Amino acid sequence: MDRFQTVLLFGAPGAGKGTQGAILGRIPGFFHLSCGEVFRSLDIHSELGSVFYEYSSKGELVPDEITVKMWAENMKAQTVLSLFKSHDDLLLLDGIPRNVKQAQLMEEYIDVLGVVHLVCKDKEAMIKRLRRRALKENRIDDAQEDVIRRRWEIYERETAPVLDYYPSDLIVEVDAVGSPASVLQHVLEEVVPIQDAHFNNPISGEHD
Ligand code: AMP
Repeated sequence: MDRFQTVLLFGAPGAGKGTQGAILGRIPGFFHLSCGEVFRSLDIHSELGSVFYEYSSKGELVPDEITVKMWAENMKAQTVLSLFKSHDDLLLLDGIPRNVKQAQLMEEYIDVLGVVHLVCKDKEAMIKRLRRRALKENRIDDAQEDVIRRRWEIYERETAPVLDYYPSDLIVEVDAVGSPASVLQHVLEEVVPIQDAHFNNPISGEHD
């Protein structure tokens, strides 16, 4: 199997990975997948759904092997259904890999062409953003302040080191503070050249 050509949307909880990914995923030639969303779509009474609930309700990460297996199976399903076309689409992953172990386990599946790091230095602003979103979207993990803080702690301890796992020339920083449109503008400046370099134009079929 060819590895999927991938860009990682990276950043702390509340940095806007999901917002940016969802917008980009509407553009032909990009396929966005949020690991957290896949988990949230599970039936809470299923075996995997209850494992997810057990960890996410405490702000903790689901164990690595289970997570990567679930992600790989989901990608396979998206491919079989032709929702994701690995030869045409640049894969935008959000929320995975979440630690170095996951990055290693995913090597066999993904070829990382770039990492867009959405940077927000104002932790308290992010925490406010998460609480607002939790109320709107009915998210158990971000409704309680202690769970949010636990998510940040885990981000700093386990997820941030993923940035050292990939070659530094693949990583670009984008300021996550600003309107979704202005952040999008900067993200596009990074991902469009990657798409142009690796894929045919999804409309004309030609390289630019
Ligand atoms: P997110 O929406 O990305 O913040 O994810 C919500 C929750 O899903 C996290 O707090 C974790 O419990 C779980 N989760 C999402 N992605 C991962 C991952 N890559 N590894 C482990 N747990 C994850």
